[in-house]
Amino acid sequence: MDNDRERQKRSRIMASIHSRDTRPELIVRRYLFARGFRFRLAHPRLPGRPDIVLRKYRTAIFVNGCFWHGHDCKAFHLPKTNTDFWRRKIDRNRRRDVDVQRRLAEMGWHCLTVWECELAGEKRNQTLLSLEFTLNHIYLEDRKMRYSLPDDTPQMAAEQCPAQSFDTGRRSAGDDPPAQAGAEKP
Ligand SMILES: [Zn+2]
Repeated sequence: MDNDRERQKRSRIMASIHSRDTRPELIVRRYLFARGFRFRLAHPRLPGRPDIVLRKYRTAIFVNGCFWHGHDCKAFHLPKTNTDFWRRKIDRNRRRDVDVQRRLAEMGWHCLTVWECELAGEKRNQTLLSLEFTLNHIYLEDRKMRYSLPDDTPQMAAEQCPAQSFDTGRRSAGDDPPAQAGAEKP
């Protein structure tokens, strides 16, 4: 039936648009994993289903394509045809990204965005190193904050998340060292 074929075609297109295994995301995942970070993918219970979630770091990482998320960079060009359609669509995506980040921040999550263009060519190594540095920095800063708070009330959001396989071992006083090369190998 024509309808079925149309539907199949549409769902194929949607699947490719929302593919979770896009190359930029794979680059980030492989790097983090090799450096000892453990994470969960496309967390369904956090706003915006972040691509990579590091619970131990209370950090959600979005790996964004420059076109779909309207990055202000050389890689982004509005198509010459149906320009208004694309502008509206991409504006909507941008607004949603901002909203998702605000909601995550309100829940006490750090939010990092890695752009596709930052993973291309020579920029890639620097981007990945910065990401690793930022994660370790977040970890240490969060521990500092915790010790200086009058009462150590856990944030609601963390408790609402089910136990994750990547968060191995129980932490009591937040005294784990930040991940390093070779750490947390299974
Ligand atoms: Zn870009």
